[in-house]
Amino acid sequence: MNNRWRTIALWGLPLLLGLFMLFGMVRGGGVAAGASSATAAPSNTAVGRMTYGRFLDYLGNGRVTAVDVFEGGRSAVVEAVDPDLDNRVQRLRVDLPGLAPELLSQLKQQGVSFDVHPPRTTPPLFGVLGNLLFPLLLIGSLIFLARRSAGMPGGPGQAMQFGKSKARFMMEAETGVKFDDVAGVEEAKQELREIVTFLRTPERFTAVGATIPNGALLVGPPGTGKTLLAKAIAGEAGVPFFSLSGSEFVEMFVGVGASRVRDLFKKAKENAPCLIFVDEIDAVGRQRGAGMGGGNDEREQTLNQILTEMDGFEGNNGIIVLAATNRPDVLDSALLRPGRFDRQVSVDPPDIKGRLSILEVHSRNKKLGDDVRLEAIARRTPGFTGADLANLLNEAAILTARRRKDFIGLVEIDDAVDRIIAGMEGRPLTDGRSKRLIAYHEVGHALVGTLVEAHDPVQKVTLIPRGQAQGLTWFAPDEEQGLVSRAQLKARIMGALGGRAAEEVVFGRAEVTTGAGGDIQQVAGIARQMVTQYGMSDIGPLSLSEGNQEVFLGRDLLTRSDMSGATARSVDEQVFSLVGSLYKDTVALLAAQRSCMDRVVEVLIEQETLDGDEFSSLVEAFTTVPVKERLTPLLSAG
Ligand code: ADP
Ligand code: MG
Ligand code: ZN
Repeated sequence: MNNRWRTIALWGLPLLLGLFMLFGMVRGGGVAAGASSATAAPSNTAVGRMTYGRFLDYLGNGRVTAVDVFEGGRSAVVEAVDPDLDNRVQRLRVDLPGLAPELLSQLKQQGVSFDVHPPRTTPPLFGVLGNLLFPLLLIGSLIFLARRSAGMPGGPGQAMQFGKSKARFMMEAETGVKFDDVAGVEEAKQELREIVTFLRTPERFTAVGATIPNGALLVGPPGTGKTLLAKAIAGEAGVPFFSLSGSEFVEMFVGVGASRVRDLFKKAKENAPCLIFVDEIDAVGRQRGAGMGGGNDEREQTLNQILTEMDGFEGNNGIIVLAATNRPDVLDSALLRPGRFDRQVSVDPPDIKGRLSILEVHSRNKKLGDDVRLEAIARRTPGFTGADLANLLNEAAILTARRRKDFIGLVEIDDAVDRIIAGMEGRPLTDGRSKRLIAYHEVGHALVGTLVEAHDPVQKVTLIPRGQAQGLTWFAPDEEQGLVSRAQLKARIMGALGGRAAEEVVFGRAEVTTGAGGDIQQVAGIARQMVTQYGMSDIGPLSLSEGNQEVFLGRDLLTRSDMSGATARSVDEQVFSLVGSLYKDTVALLAAQRSCMDRVVEVLIEQETLDGDEFSSLVEAFTTVPVKERLTPLLSAG
């Protein structure tokens, strides 16, 4: 309170001066038109408005697809679909009480596309004035709200809600999460067990003069279970769990972040032993001075406050601070100094065994049919994180309920995997020229995949559209082989080119379509990596870094290349010749298999989906050339 009044006294004079200056400027036309809005407001493409309550309902029903936040979290434009109206997209404006961490995590969990729009840059005078006005406006509205709630029946309730809507931080007295609920990250669990012991029996350590570490950093991509692990530590130790998220501090008024951190640590000290979890610490803890166009005061002050609090820990006060990030590379080195987050625990995406154990955890409360084998699901889902797997089983359960079945079957799981990887199923095209072209395209992929020895086996070919794709060919990657050979990479390039090659062989060069765009991008990626990273070209085993991308704050990318112009040219030449010759081989292969292709396409158009076994037995039956022997030498050449 004290502080606040001092602030007003200090700022009152400059503010008055500023106002006079402002009026002078505006009248004189000195300030550019349009500068009147200091922050970017929701664009007026939004058609309607909705209440915050209705927005929460929509979110609960999974109707929200995108949220654009404006004005530092005070309003948003929400994109929602209406399932009753053919999934028509509506854009609605909502006033938000702030960005509560629960809301953020719900958005993230539901995969809602989410963006925060920074305030528009303003002319210097407005910048100064804006900064001065904001705290006053805030104070004004604080007083206004407090009065209103006091004067109204049910006022206290509203006052509390206001307090809550500022999303100060969260406290859970008992998380109820145990280490058994976190699977597939055994090393991380092993390292973190020690922290549980610190929290449970600190005396044991202090008695022998050991200093207990203050904090640890959990490093890993989103959805691997960092938050869950932190909660499990608190749950195992039986201590309260405090959390806040770094991303909330971005776009906040200067000073609020630091005072929130102070409050948090104060509360935590009252409740020690306890655990503090700072999610997305990179949002406040970026290397200072790295941003373009000056730092962000708010971030810096928040970060400094966290560091000050941690440095102020005297001996052992029973508080452990855990932070999570997926960008340890951008963190300020001050964070990583001894006594702060000096321990790093990496939380990696699970391997096949890890995925199996995560599936076991999440299927505990699900009714699975007898045909479902969790190992098979784990095999089909390389690259899935714990969150993806949890989502997968949930999607499968929803499908099962929708189909009015009693148990989740293999079909539901398969459908859910397809849906998560490739998007929603659409309606198949009716027979016609486009469907035929798509069928040839997909059979082209699958046929190359089947005939080229080093290629991953075909799992399924389908003409049922999903997401953006009109047809899809699925391959079953050879699980966890880790190392991939040159022949395999070439085979993958051929497989990806198979679609376009089939179009060309059957319909002629003039008729090829844009449908191969994604494939071609993939090809370019693999080929370039073969040349520049894996030393698999005539240039030899050299690592040629091409534009290391460094992401700075905002949209500015700075690229740095340590490659000379001549090297870059020869890289391009190598890539061109590699892809060019593989494309020629692919066209030749499919041309030789034309009659086989025609017959498989007929069957596919009729059945719409062929699984891997069906497909390969069709190829076996229709092919005229025993190709495998012919193709292996082809791949090892050149
Ligand atoms: P992160 O914080 O790393 O982004 P979360 O801990 O928020 O990931 O994970 C989100 C959800 O995904 C969890 O609540 C849990 O249901 C599931 N999940 C993620 N990782 C695991 C795991 N290793 N074991 C079990 N469940 C997991
Ligand atoms: Mg998290
Ligand atoms: Zn394709």
